[in-house]
Amino acid sequence: MSSTSAPKSANSALNRRSFLARSAAIAAVPAVATLAGGALAEPASADTLPDYAPIPPSALGPAVNAQGYFVGPVEKNLYWVTDGTYQAAFLTTRDGVVLFDAPPTIGHNLQRAIDQIAGANGVSNKVTHIVYSHHHADHLGASSLFGKDVVRVGHAETKRLLARDNDPTRPVPDVTFETRHTLRVGGERINLAWHGTNHTPDNSYIHFPDHDTLMLVDINLPGWVPFAGFNLNEDVPGSIAAPATAMAYPWQHFIGGHMGRLGTRGDMAVYQQYVSDLLDGVRQALVAVDPTPFFAKYGNNSWAAVKTYQDAQADFAAAPVIKKYTGVLAAADVYTASTAFVLLESIRLDLGIGSQIHP
Ligand SMILES: [Zn+2]
Repeated sequence: MSSTSAPKSANSALNRRSFLARSAAIAAVPAVATLAGGALAEPASADTLPDYAPIPPSALGPAVNAQGYFVGPVEKNLYWVTDGTYQAAFLTTRDGVVLFDAPPTIGHNLQRAIDQIAGANGVSNKVTHIVYSHHHADHLGASSLFGKDVVRVGHAETKRLLARDNDPTRPVPDVTFETRHTLRVGGERINLAWHGTNHTPDNSYIHFPDHDTLMLVDINLPGWVPFAGFNLNEDVPGSIAAPATAMAYPWQHFIGGHMGRLGTRGDMAVYQQYVSDLLDGVRQALVAVDPTPFFAKYGNNSWAAVKTYQDAQADFAAAPVIKKYTGVLAAADVYTASTAFVLLESIRLDLGIGSQIHP
């Protein structure tokens, strides 16, 4: 899928997909520039932006079509949809369609993808249920497109958080559960479970026992390192533990909510090793990086000393991990130090490692 070998039409689709995926971030830039009081007045130049290692081909999924999406089977009547960055899934049944998440970046392409599959198979294209993985807007913001006559299913905490956030694009679930719920629609079954907090307090495990598939969003993004700050995971120890819980389920196909492809058990194992390696690096950094020069230089500016000291610890932990995973996981050189910082803080604050009682 390199730009030199892909056919021209695939390239235009890719470019359009990439543009759509980035346009929201680009649109946010002017507001930030205003807030920063003109600090960004100097326009960015592509020539001066940093270079990063190429993305390994294994990180990329199928090309998106001219509308900017790809839809394909996961197993039997379970399908997944992606725009290359976000993922949703749907199950066609004799009584209608069950949709799993509704990312706004995929938006109206969700129904287009469903229409495409339903039309080809001669089954109903009517979405009757939407299952929410967790409350985040980037995975649910297209929920309201499906109107009021849809049964929305989610964790009780998802309902509480959505009621708090009061966003009309994400109607609260009609059906909630606390620990387990088996959803039965049109002869199909989906097992929903909550095994404690991880990425968010409400993030749920969506298991398809008859389709050999697990959907668990924003934990492992197959082929890629986590997004900034360990995927912005709210409960770091809970998020470190989540892959083992996921692996305890029987499945061969994994839907992680990102990026452009499905995952395997092998992907989960690589991700677990990546996190484990980074935790090892952070523990070593706590011992190896000498704080003296940072505090000597910045004197009573405690934050300057702490920031530069912890940045040095994160870089120390990240360096060997970046080296090991470049070419294995995409963007290892982009976000590993950012995740190392979050793991460092969790080890310090959650586990108490590195804290000393004043004598
Ligand atoms: Zn999320």
